[in-house]
Order: sequence, then structure tokens, then C-alpha cells
Amino acid sequence: MNVLVLNCGSSSLKFQIIETDLDLIEKNADRQKAKGLIERIGSQSLVTLQADGKPAVKQAIALRDHRVALDYVTRWIVSHDAEIPGITSLADIHAVGHRVVHGAEKFTKSVTINEEVTKGIEDCIELAPLHNPANLKGIYAARELLGSGVPQVAVFDTSFHSTMPETSYLYAIPYQLYRRHKIRRYGFHGTSHRYVSYRYREITQKQLDETTIITLHLGNGCSACAVKAGHSFDTSMGLTPLEGLVMGTRGGDIDPSVIEFLSHKEAMSMSDIDALLNKQSGLLGLSGLTNDMRDLLDEEREHSDRRASLAISIFAQRVKKYIGAYLAEMNGAEAIILTGGIGENSPTIRQRVLAGLEWLGIELDENLNSQMIAGKEGEINKKESRVKVYVIPTNEELLIARDTVRCVKDVPRRW
Ligand code: ADP
Repeated sequence: MNVLVLNCGSSSLKFQIIETDLDLIEKNADRQKAKGLIERIGSQSLVTLQADGKPAVKQAIALRDHRVALDYVTRWIVSHDAEIPGITSLADIHAVGHRVVHGAEKFTKSVTINEEVTKGIEDCIELAPLHNPANLKGIYAARELLGSGVPQVAVFDTSFHSTMPETSYLYAIPYQLYRRHKIRRYGFHGTSHRYVSYRYREITQKQLDETTIITLHLGNGCSACAVKAGHSFDTSMGLTPLEGLVMGTRGGDIDPSVIEFLSHKEAMSMSDIDALLNKQSGLLGLSGLTNDMRDLLDEEREHSDRRASLAISIFAQRVKKYIGAYLAEMNGAEAIILTGGIGENSPTIRQRVLAGLEWLGIELDENLNSQMIAGKEGEINKKESRVKVYVIPTNEELLIARDTVRCVKDVPRRW
């Protein structure tokens, strides 16, 4: 089956075409045929399109909304320019898999989309006001352009974490607020944490119940997950993706009283403070320079910028703190997995996060660590390290495509 995987943000649309099926999943022989990204939907959009094995094509063109953007993408997919093997018309796209950010307590696994599901995703909008509406736009656009005969599947960022116990997901605020408004930890990046947990099992040939690991997704958004016997036991993001680790522009954990204090001292509204914590904090807020870790590492090296250096140190220390907490919560772990743009590509950050944890049985091999970049997958710990450390590039799109096939064919997933 050719599955179109869609990830719609408020002004962006990412896609991949992945050929997969039950037998290809079994053989790990799924194939990515094309990918692309449209940014700045609603104004002069930037389009990047790439068929497998060909150079990327970049264009600037005005695309009004998600429907027009998807129309543009699907026209390219079936065009001679793209020349995607096995795809000559829209009938060759057999299913669509959507990344949906918030599924709340309603969606604990991936589902085939029908009216009830779109209504359920709408009901979750108040928990993800920026993300879920964009995801719905993608769903409606795909239905309109491909026809209602093409099955569509929703894969939720939150669903992997639905196995967390109450002791992990409840906040210590009056219990009736959870009852009344479902205020609790949901966690995000679930598809990424789930994918790297699955890959860890593939690499090590471990069983699900032997998979007690800590997964660290360190990208522009960052989260940690305690995976106990294969299932999410605790995670650092909360009701929204704001809680937990230091991220590109999000500050992560903070004393909630800061909000009241700020509103008085700076005469800020709630929505101003929300924007400050989500868009002007984290690495950007601390450094005053950038939210981009690569640039910060350059600044630190080249100009010995004190605040760049401080931002990196605070970032690393927060990750360390969560590793310690999760090792305690699970009475140890077999391995720590790093993924995401920073986790996959930065030996320096991996070293800063994992140095000085020998007492906990974590010992990094500097040589192996320095080699693991640009999409490489493997072990980076010293032989004698009690806790293993792996770098595993994430592949959320592959998992979305596979879940799509399983939902369409009504086959339960094993992981
Ligand atoms: P997103 O969460 O938006 O998907 P990514 O997972 O692509 O983001 O991660 C983006 C982050 O990864 C940025 O901070 C970027 O600087 C960082 N990054 C990418 N490559 C490197 C590298 N070689 N060294 C350090 N950081 C890197």
C-alpha cells in the first residue's frame, strides 16, 4: 500500500509517501518514496519536495490554506516531475495517516477516522488549541481531495502515554479538577518514544516486558519518557507540551507562582505570559540569541558567550535530573535511548547529559559517541557500563504509516 503520511501544523504541512504492508512490516522492508514540507501556509509559502533518490526541489508560491497546499502536494505526487514509482494517479494513494497531537483520554490507540473520530478530535481542541485544528484541516482536505473512499487513520502523540498510572499522570491539585476538566499529565512525542522503544527491542532482541528504558527525545521540543516493561510509565510533558525539559523556546518546569508574579511586575496578560513561556523561553530566553542548539554550540566555542554556555548547561542539567528521577521511579533501567535533532546529532550534548553518572552505572564511550551522527544508529556506552546507551534516529512517519496499514486491515498492533 502507498500511504500518504501527513503532519499538519498551524502554518505548515509535512508529508511522506511510504510503501508498506503487513508483509513489508514483518520484513522491515517498508520504503519511503517521497517527502516534502510546506512552510508559511497562508502567505508566500516555501515548498520543498523530494522524490526518493532525487535532489530536493524548492519553490516559493502563495498557498492560501491547508487544502490548497495539499492540492499542490498531490498534483506534484502524480506528476511526471516527481516520477514516483507505482504512482501515476491519485488512485495509487491507498490510505492517509495523520499525526494528531492531542487525543486526551478518549484515544488510547490509533484509529480509522470517521465522523465520531473527527468529533472526538474536535472535543480535544481546548487541550491543544494550536495543533488539533490544524490536524483537522489536514483530515478534511485529504477527504475532499482523495475522496471518502480512501481510508484515513489518526495516530495520536498522546496515546503511547495512556498506560501511565494515576501516580504519574495526576497533578497534586484538588482531585475534582481532574474529574471536572480532565486536568492531568497527558505527555506528547508518544510516536517517537514508541518508535525508539520498538527499535531498541529490534536491535537487542529483547521482549516487550524486558524493555525498561529511558527514552530522551531532544529536538526543538524535548521530552523524556520512563518506559517500564515496554509501556510508558511516566513522561516529562504534561497537560500541554510546556512542562518538563528545557526546549528551544519553552522553559519546561517552573514554579507556577512565577506567573502571578510576572503578571504584576510586568503588567502582562495571561496570554502574554503563555506566549512568553512557550515562545520566548528555553534556550532562546536564556541565551538571548537563538533557539537552535547547533548555533548555540558554535557561539559557545567561537566567542565564549557566557549565556550561550549557560543555556546549554541548564539544558543538560535538566535532562540529567529527569534521568535520575526515572531511574529511581523504575528501580533502574536497562538502557537510555537518545533521539531527536539534538539527541541524534550532537555528541557534545550527549556527553554533557551523560557525564558524571558513573555512580548510576552509566558510562559513555567517547569514541563511539563521537561517531554517532547524521542518522547513524547504535550503542555508545563502554562495555562495562551497567546501563546501555543508544542513539536511535526517530521515524515517526514510518510508525504512522504502519499504524495506518494495521488499522485499515484491522490487525492489532503488537507494539
Ligand atoms: P523538531 O523538534 O522541530 O522536529 P528536530 O528534532 O529537527 O526539531 O531538532 C532540532 C534541533 O536539533 C535544533 O536545536 C538543532 O540545532 C539541533 N541539531 C541538529 N543538528 C545538530 C547538531 N549537529 N548539533 C547540535 N544540534 C543539532
